[in-house]
Amino acid sequence: MADGARAQDDETLILDAIDKWVRTKVAPVAMKLEHDDVWPAALVDDMRELGLFGALIDPEYGGLGLSATTYARIVTRIAKEWMSLTGIFNSHLMMALIVQKFGTAEQKEFWLPRFAAGAMRGGLGLTEPDAGTDLQGIRTTAIRRGDRYVVNGTKTWISNAIEGEANALLVKTDPAASPRYKGMSMLIVTKHDPRTGAPLKGIRNGRKLEKLGYKGIDSGEFIFEDYECDAALSLVGGKEGEGFLMATGGLEIGRINVAARAVGIAQRALEESIKYAQVRKTMGKPIAEHQAIQLKLGEMAAKTRASELLVEDAARQYDKGARVDMEAGMAKYYASETAVEVATEAMRIHGGYGYSKEFVIERLYRDAPLMCIGEGTNEMQRIIIAKQLVKRNPA
Ligand SMILES: Cc1cc2nc3c(=O)[nH]c(=O)nc-3n(C[C@H](O)[C@H](O)[C@H](O)COP(=O)(O)OP(=O)(O)OC[C@H]3O[C@@H](n4cnc5c(N)ncnc54)[C@H](O)[C@@H]3O)c2cc1C
Repeated sequence: MADGARAQDDETLILDAIDKWVRTKVAPVAMKLEHDDVWPAALVDDMRELGLFGALIDPEYGGLGLSATTYARIVTRIAKEWMSLTGIFNSHLMMALIVQKFGTAEQKEFWLPRFAAGAMRGGLGLTEPDAGTDLQGIRTTAIRRGDRYVVNGTKTWISNAIEGEANALLVKTDPAASPRYKGMSMLIVTKHDPRTGAPLKGIRNGRKLEKLGYKGIDSGEFIFEDYECDAALSLVGGKEGEGFLMATGGLEIGRINVAARAVGIAQRALEESIKYAQVRKTMGKPIAEHQAIQLKLGEMAAKTRASELLVEDAARQYDKGARVDMEAGMAKYYASETAVEVATEAMRIHGGYGYSKEFVIERLYRDAPLMCIGEGTNEMQRIIIAKQLVKRNPA
């Protein structure tokens, strides 16, 4: 069988397995777990078995080695039922991809099989109380002492901070460097000694942050006070000064993922609206026959489909090995704004019931805005798109 046909078959098998899992395991519990903001332990076990924690990790390290195109489709399908679940494995994969893309041979051998199996889960630690968009403004330091690093500082808004064990931590190894990015490095940090399993001192979680949506997954603080880690294992790539590049380079797939989540939210809001508009009657006919509702449905459908195609395009380009800042930025920007708009319109179509916790619409409405913030705000996406446009089209 040709490689293309085999890949197609593999994708069909994986997507079928995901669909079945979403239908039988996620759908029955998502509403309750989300409203109660409960970490979905049983679903995380399922995701481990499905291989999602290794979805983008190379097979030689135990991962599935999926293409970005297949991965984006998986993310959309899960997000359609419960967006939070996609954050549990995607943040983890962002950490894993940093090691896969930039790590030393020893680091890949050590970390990737553990990450791929989901035995050691984690996320990406960039944001600090005073630095989100302006990543070069971070203050967490990691100072080399012999064969170890000593880390001090605070991270906030970190997905999987509390339930996870590991984190790809953006730090300053040379706080006085100019330009600032040259003093930044990436460390893999863990709560327990990765070799012996003994708890480590100087690393703790602060608050679990309360949120509008994106419930179930933990968003938390990390506090480092003279935390020590082994330099050879932790400093990704073995060289200081490359952390900023790793953080921003890794965001391309993160942006495709956020865009794919946004498509899932928009698709679900649209589907619910199409159904509801046919059964809800006013003035003697289904509201789907009122032109005001038809205008909404038409616009929602066109924008949702356009978002899906932008995600497919960015993922396909990424799979070809191209630099996709612009494509990923366009997909992320457009799909996330669309998710907010479509969820809002879905609420209007549902009237009072859209505001009810018994309907999924209020959850989609709460989940959608995060897509405009995460992995680089939409203000920044438009700036990135514009810069790329100019760079690619010199006058
Ligand atoms: C639920 C949730 C989960 C998250 N998970 C993670 C995670 O796992 N890991 C992690 O590291 N972070 C995470 N974050 C943090 C997220 O990445 C940041 O919130 C985001 O990058 C924005 O940073 P900020 O909140 O500091 O806003 P700021 O950077 O303070 O921005 C405030 C406003 O100013 C605008 N702005 C800033 N600079 C410019 C500029 N130069 N030009 C134009 N406009 C500008 C922004 O677009 C925004 O509108 C998470 C956040 C949330 C809410």
